[in-house]
Amino acid sequence: MNYKDFLKALDKKLAEYFERDSEHIYCQIGCSACCEKGDYPLSQLELEYLMQGFIALDNPTKQRVQENVKNIQKGGVCPFLIDKKCSVYPYRPIICRVHGLAYLCNNMTVKVPYCVNVGKNYHKVYENGEIVINPISENLDTKILLKGCNYGEIRNLADWLK
Ligand code: SF4
Repeated sequence: MNYKDFLKALDKKLAEYFERDSEHIYCQIGCSACCEKGDYPLSQLELEYLMQGFIALDNPTKQRVQENVKNIQKGGVCPFLIDKKCSVYPYRPIICRVHGLAYLCNNMTVKVPYCVNVGKNYHKVYENGEIVINPISENLDTKILLKGCNYGEIRNLADWLK
């Protein structure tokens, strides 16, 4: 399966998970909390696709992204976030697609989205550092989802772009 087909299938599956947990999801247009704080780890394969998105941008937007890249900070705002929107949305990495969901990892811990702490996703079912509903039982970590693909190295976005 090529990467575009893989993403199509992944998006379909993730849409079902977002639907399953919709009563706990507060994602909406204009909220970019998950793009404002993070390391955004992604593989070489995802980076190459992301760069196709960058190349397709108009020149003024490209320049704004390039300015952001100069000021990129570890754990900070993603340089592709322009006017609170993802400028490369169809090309975004897997971590961006999965963000917002709570899911079970291999070591039986539940990964919850960062925004649970700012009164958003799952906050009503989050007690003492844990969610009290059954989480999605599939591990949605990039490495696991890309298993079997030749995805190359995984690095944080700031490390790829420096
Ligand atoms: S690539 Fe897009 S969706 Fe991902 S963190 Fe950056 S702005 Fe957000």
